[in-house]
Amino acid sequence: MLDKRKFYINGEWISPYKPNDFNVINPSNEDSFAAISLGAKEDVDKAVDAAKIAFEKWKNTTKEQRINLLEKLLEIYKRRFDEMSKAISDEMGAPIDWSSEVQTSSGQAHLEDFILRLKEYEFGKQFNSNSNNYICYEPIGVCGLITPWNWPINQIALKVVPALATGCTMILKPSEIAPLSGMIFADMIHEAGFPKGVFNLVNGDGKGVGTYFSSHKNIDMISFTGSTRAGKLISKNAADTIKRVCLELGGKGGNIVFEDAYPEAVRDGIRNVMSNSGQSCDAPTRMLVQKSIYERSVKEAIDEANKIKVDLASKKGGHIGPVVSKVQYDKIINLIKRGIEEGATLAAGGPEKPEHLKKGYFIKPTIFTDVTNDMKIASEEIFGPVLSIIPFEAEDEAINIVNDTSYGLGNYLQTNDKEKAKRVSKKLRSGCVYINGNSADPGTPFGGYRQSGNGREGGVWGLEEYLEVKTVTGWK
Ligand code: NAD
Repeated sequence: MLDKRKFYINGEWISPYKPNDFNVINPSNEDSFAAISLGAKEDVDKAVDAAKIAFEKWKNTTKEQRINLLEKLLEIYKRRFDEMSKAISDEMGAPIDWSSEVQTSSGQAHLEDFILRLKEYEFGKQFNSNSNNYICYEPIGVCGLITPWNWPINQIALKVVPALATGCTMILKPSEIAPLSGMIFADMIHEAGFPKGVFNLVNGDGKGVGTYFSSHKNIDMISFTGSTRAGKLISKNAADTIKRVCLELGGKGGNIVFEDAYPEAVRDGIRNVMSNSGQSCDAPTRMLVQKSIYERSVKEAIDEANKIKVDLASKKGGHIGPVVSKVQYDKIINLIKRGIEEGATLAAGGPEKPEHLKKGYFIKPTIFTDVTNDMKIASEEIFGPVLSIIPFEAEDEAINIVNDTSYGLGNYLQTNDKEKAKRVSKKLRSGCVYINGNSADPGTPFGGYRQSGNGREGGVWGLEEYLEVKTVTGWK
């Protein structure tokens, strides 16, 4: 059993105010393999004090000083890459090769991209050539960063790196379900030599540490990624202190497959939704298929889902792993049962465990067909390997169905008609629209409309979330 009960505050690993045991569970075998402590208000206060003091010097560092430290951090990240991949795989169940190739790589990619953006970024500029006004971009201050378990280091890098880059100081609270990757990242930041108090880590749950962060008078900004449920609570708890609250929340992405889609479109959609065991905020979990190709597409979808293997996270080989926890497992199984009760057709998978895996939180890739958008499985974020297929006749009908949700994170569309693709993408109410399987370039913004959040992470937009803007007159 790994002892991970300490917190990283003011440049050292220290014992919590009240040490306690919260078990980290490997979802492949349900065994506890590490213990962390859940922090108390006193731990948060100590970390905030350290961050507040450190801010006075850190905010005045030059861009070059911060670039040097971030470049050291990148070197260390590359050296300790395999250790990070193993921790992510053990704590949240990503198969080890996928953990390395996709999860851990995402952290490295964000580090590399933010270093580039920082090099190009101007923290002050004249308003225009005729003006004697000057616009300054200044770090917002002490940031509380709260992250989820599904893409643990991806989310941590998207917050910690721009906060460091812009001269902010911070306290990170990683998900208590998957805290080990964040603790390794803290070690890397220590090794890189960032001044004490600039980065701090306090473990804890949402009710405790998360709530202390949101209402803390000396935390100037919260950046949160997680459920819409928690995002609402954070906004309410933060209201009295008028701090900036940046939210990256849930999704219920639509994927419109038009009759003129490229041949692999349905199969690609299945692989996309099932990857990470369906635990991605922008997963295309509602596949809308034009009626003229509906029957053939359903057959392809079932065939593709049945090809996807489910197995232990420690094994290599292109399969999907378990879902993260008993809580998530129960929630997903209940929603699958609900889909059957609501009258959708269960076309692949189902609520039973895969035959060869009696232990662990494993769920078979599941497909429902003949789904209508008013069913629970089409409106609620399931966050497991479950897809709903919805037939449609005409373009406008498809757009209306996709937009008929409280979310708006990532939507997808598949067609060979370029004009139609552009037309439809403009009408979809979401922060990202992916056409024909094209992925987003590094440095593009990521975030949601409506109840998928109000923030934008990545690139210049990601840096500017951590900056205040000041107008100074009479500059010349
Ligand atoms: P969660 O909301 O349960 O927990 C996320 C984090 O918030 C954890 O660290 C948790 O301890 C903390 N938390 C929980 N309640 C809180 C509260 N009241 N106050 C403060 N902090 C609180 O979410 P999860 O189950 O860890 O993650 C899955 C969710 O995250 C999904 O809804 C998914 O769509 C979303 N997500 C969104 C994005 C995005 O960029 N939009 C990316 C990844 C995940």
